[in-house]
Amino acid sequence: MTAPTLDPDNPLARASALPYGLPDFASIRVEHIGPAIRAGIAEEVAEVEAIASDVSPATVENVLDALELTGDLLDRALTVMSALLDADPTPELEDLEDELTAELSAHDDAVAMHAGVRARLVELAERVKRGEVACDEPGRRLLDDRLRDVQRSGADLPAEQREELLRINVRLAELESAFSRTVVAASTAAGVLVRDVGRLVGLTEDEIASARAAAEGADQDGWLLALGSPTQQEVQARLADRGLREEVHRAATARGTAGEHDSRALVVEIVRLRAQRAALLGFRDHATYVTQVTTAGTPDRVREVLAPLVPGAVANAAVELADMQAVLDAELGDAAGPLEPWDVTWAGERLRHERHAIDDAALRPYLELDRVLEHGVFAAATASYGITFHARPDLHGYHHEVRVWEVRAQDGTGLGLFLGDFLARPSKQGGAWSTALVDQSHLTGTRPVVLNVLNVARPAPGQPTLMTWDDVVTAFHETGHALHALLSDVRRPSQSGTEVSQDVVEVPSQINETWAWEPALLRRYAVHHATGEPLPDETIERLRGSQRHGQGVATTEMLAATFLDLAWHSMTESELAGALSDGADGVERFEQAALAAAGLDVPCVPPRYRSTYFAHVFGGGYDAAYYAYLWSEVLAADLIEWFHESGGLSREAGERFRRELLAVGGSVDPMVAFERLRGRPASPAALLARRGLA
Ligand SMILES: [Zn+2]
Repeated sequence: MTAPTLDPDNPLARASALPYGLPDFASIRVEHIGPAIRAGIAEEVAEVEAIASDVSPATVENVLDALELTGDLLDRALTVMSALLDADPTPELEDLEDELTAELSAHDDAVAMHAGVRARLVELAERVKRGEVACDEPGRRLLDDRLRDVQRSGADLPAEQREELLRINVRLAELESAFSRTVVAASTAAGVLVRDVGRLVGLTEDEIASARAAAEGADQDGWLLALGSPTQQEVQARLADRGLREEVHRAATARGTAGEHDSRALVVEIVRLRAQRAALLGFRDHATYVTQVTTAGTPDRVREVLAPLVPGAVANAAVELADMQAVLDAELGDAAGPLEPWDVTWAGERLRHERHAIDDAALRPYLELDRVLEHGVFAAATASYGITFHARPDLHGYHHEVRVWEVRAQDGTGLGLFLGDFLARPSKQGGAWSTALVDQSHLTGTRPVVLNVLNVARPAPGQPTLMTWDDVVTAFHETGHALHALLSDVRRPSQSGTEVSQDVVEVPSQINETWAWEPALLRRYAVHHATGEPLPDETIERLRGSQRHGQGVATTEMLAATFLDLAWHSMTESELAGALSDGADGVERFEQAALAAAGLDVPCVPPRYRSTYFAHVFGGGYDAAYYAYLWSEVLAADLIEWFHESGGLSREAGERFRRELLAVGGSVDPMVAFERLRGRPASPAALLARRGLA
């Protein structure tokens, strides 16, 4: 077979000449991506062969570092493809993804299982052990990781089982992308169309306008309430019409359970194949396989740390639900009946308003996007790290709404680029995320380019972009990830920035979230867009006071999703065969049993995601790892306490945090870095206190 050659005019053929290697989106068309990926696969195969067949003695340079430098073209093309698939997809691009999924999965396996590479890694490890080759600590960590990855890839298995494993990997990759797309399609299809605007009482003018625009976009008459990814929908907090709240809730929770976008069969096949793969590799189950390479280490350790949160969360949820029942009774009298799941966010919002006098709709005029960025999100980064953000209108992303900033260090030197794609678009995936388009690395000489994507409701034409309080917290959160990438200072790209164990990757983002509540900052970024008045001090105090509001319900939802994920992935193949003997029809029953077993089958508090739309764990990426959110929150809460003991939003504390945690990325054991900073191992006490569950 001859390697495919790439047209030299293909803009992906060489590193982008734009500042910081920003992908040249303006020149890249969908027909460039497929050929670049295929040529990239061939190029990486040749590079790996060269490393494997090198006959000179193994060194850090000719094995470890050489491996870091492989796959440049492929990475470049894949980075562009996945950024577009998430935020600005087209049917052609989705077809291309389908077409390439199997090839890419087979290629990853071929590289991971390469016998020649494995032999070189083993040789290097032996030479390091004998003291013949000097290897720094990050290098040793990487060498250990790579050797373990070879073993986890199945390279040591007999040929027949290896073939089986490869087939499973290819099939799983296909199923996971099918699941993600099914969920997006199911969510779009489940949007609730309202013919009578009178039923939208309680929603803000902007919400009504965007519902109107959504209906027009979908060629429908009326107002379309589009659904967000989690179970509980944002609009339910304000919809006065109980019947409509119920409709929205039923539409949201039924996603993927029937009809054209049924995802249940995908769930069943995905969990079976994951269990099968774990068994082939010698693990009891998929969760054991996944947690082996995290800071938790085992699923038992996860349960040990998180299960103690359950009683406090459920007990607090019960108190909150009783208060909500009283709100409903007061509103509807005898007609109220028992509180239902679709009343929970609505009644919760009423209580929040009553107790903390906070009204999201009244808050929004103070939360204008640009002001929040400049005087909030960016200002916090300047206060902690001395870095500044400078608009680069000369640079562009994949869509005209993407904005670009150059990030500079205190002495003015350029650190990297920050891209923001903030407004909701119909084809954009729900939620928010941060992704590095270029990794920082001294070895490759590259500086970071980071993209943050949010889904802030699109303003009516000519109106300012006003955020919800959730949007603001999310903007701080995602910027925490971006800072991790931007302030990275490591040699090797695979240890750069957010390339850390999955259960600690949320620590910097969760810490950064807390600056949203910092009074001095709030006074500057929360300013009324029309009157120029800052958010009154007493509102700030109430906002801070409301931080613990509803944490019983919120933590219960989160724990329910966490334990649901663990349950699906803690089953052996034969256990699954028993539990799912009736195939897709068993999915709901399994879910109920899993929640009951964890003590989390709380009426009115469904999991944050039900299995059929739990894209985190069935779309790939967070399988047996959804626990990472709460796990890293334990660590983050402890470090937030440290920040407050060390001067809060200050250069001194920021500098230590940058040096010990952000800059080192994955080149240092995260728990070692944590203890160095904190002076002791992590304790869950800070999280319990923060969430008011102690
Ligand atoms: Zn995050």
